[in-house]
Amino acid sequence: MTAQRPILIAGGGPVGVITALALARQGLPVHVFEADSRVNDMPRAATTHAATLEMLAGLGMVDEVIERGYVEPLFRIWDRQSMRIMAEFDFGMLKNETPYPFAVQCEQHKLAGMAIERLKKFPHAKVEFSARVTSLTQSADGVAIEVESSEGTRKIAGSYLIGSDGGRSTVRKALGIEFEGYTHPERFMILTITEDLGLIYPGCTRNYVSDPESWFSMFKVSGDERGPLWRVLSSTQPEQTDEELMNHKATERRLQRFLPKDGAYDVVHRNLYNVHQRVAASFRKGRVFLAGDAAHVNNPLGGLGLNFGIHDAVELSDLLGRVIRREAPEDILNEYDLHRRPLNIEFVQEQTIANKKRMEEKDPAARQRDFEQLRRTAAVPASHRAHVRKASLIESVKKRAAVPV
Ligand SMILES: Cc1cc2nc3c(=O)[nH]c(=O)nc-3n(C[C@H](O)[C@H](O)[C@H](O)COP(=O)(O)OP(=O)(O)OC[C@H]3O[C@@H](n4cnc5c(N)ncnc54)[C@H](O)[C@@H]3O)c2cc1C
Repeated sequence: MTAQRPILIAGGGPVGVITALALARQGLPVHVFEADSRVNDMPRAATTHAATLEMLAGLGMVDEVIERGYVEPLFRIWDRQSMRIMAEFDFGMLKNETPYPFAVQCEQHKLAGMAIERLKKFPHAKVEFSARVTSLTQSADGVAIEVESSEGTRKIAGSYLIGSDGGRSTVRKALGIEFEGYTHPERFMILTITEDLGLIYPGCTRNYVSDPESWFSMFKVSGDERGPLWRVLSSTQPEQTDEELMNHKATERRLQRFLPKDGAYDVVHRNLYNVHQRVAASFRKGRVFLAGDAAHVNNPLGGLGLNFGIHDAVELSDLLGRVIRREAPEDILNEYDLHRRPLNIEFVQEQTIANKKRMEEKDPAARQRDFEQLRRTAAVPASHRAHVRKASLIESVKKRAAVPV
């Protein structure tokens, strides 16, 4: 099996290296090219949901994710004007459906690092840093890419190519595939702080605080040598510049407005992100596939983007393995685009768009209706369970499994 040409992977973010691990564990040769010199540790994804934890168990990663992350079965939705909890949801309702009835807050660079460590055990797997994929060609039986690195430009041949090179994907652009959807006019800011917000808001470490003027959310992550950290995510005005937003006084004012306290906050990271709702018009062209943010991007409310990207990784590596082992005809690769694209629209785009709308709703009557609906959903076990099945992506996995390949 390992004598064949490798499957090439452009982008060594969490989706690229987890795809590589899922392929390498099947004995398939893989070569990952990552443009950066190391794993990117900017604060992005942290929430790993039940459906994804089940997949990470299949890849031998889940115990370490749980050990290095922060387990949280609950999430709460607050009204900022009254600072009252409007609804509390409990993934524990899924205890008969999954061995992991909770979310784990484990930063995405840790996940990527864990996959890279495991890849080192496979002689047929290679992860190359400081290597940028710049172009690609394909024929009926293979692919070729150009890679720029300190050694100059090289041409590398492979059997298939997976573009997991993020939202600005070179692979997607080279294939001429539209990234359909829109970009929100405002940017989101993440402030990472050392203060333990759990002392002020005890009982739950995943909180969404709805407000027509300035919503925010606060999450605990397992952090680093400083100990656990909290992240405060909020929205900015489209016309605000980096300078206005990112200086020490502005971030302190922002935190005090949301979470007043004596003394200044200890802010360890300040980050601004553009926010999009986009899905590639196709996830496949011939022998080239898109996975993760290269295929779909969404706002982070709900913590779904990377989770779905890991589901792409697992489904794609399974399909490729079956075709390469000649257990199934090449046609089954069509299933990837056929199912994953509509699933992303139904479960990731729709939920994140609805979450954002609810957080920022300006019409007082609509806000009250939203809160009332959330309260009713949380109060009745059947609707509560249905809500958390969707939020944890268990529902999307069940829907996909109902159409076996
Ligand atoms: C503030 C914020 C919070 C988030 N929270 C969550 C969350 O809680 N849960 C969740 O599921 N998702 C969350 N997300 C989304 C999540 O961060 C992304 O979905 C995730 O990073 C996607 O992983 P990826 O590997 O597809 O892409 P990326 O992480 O973008 O990795 C792509 C990699 O490709 C490399 N690359 C780019 N071009 C090339 C090239 N030409 N050649 C070689 N390498 C290349 C890049 O250097 C990068 O390392 C959040 C996002 C943000 C911004």
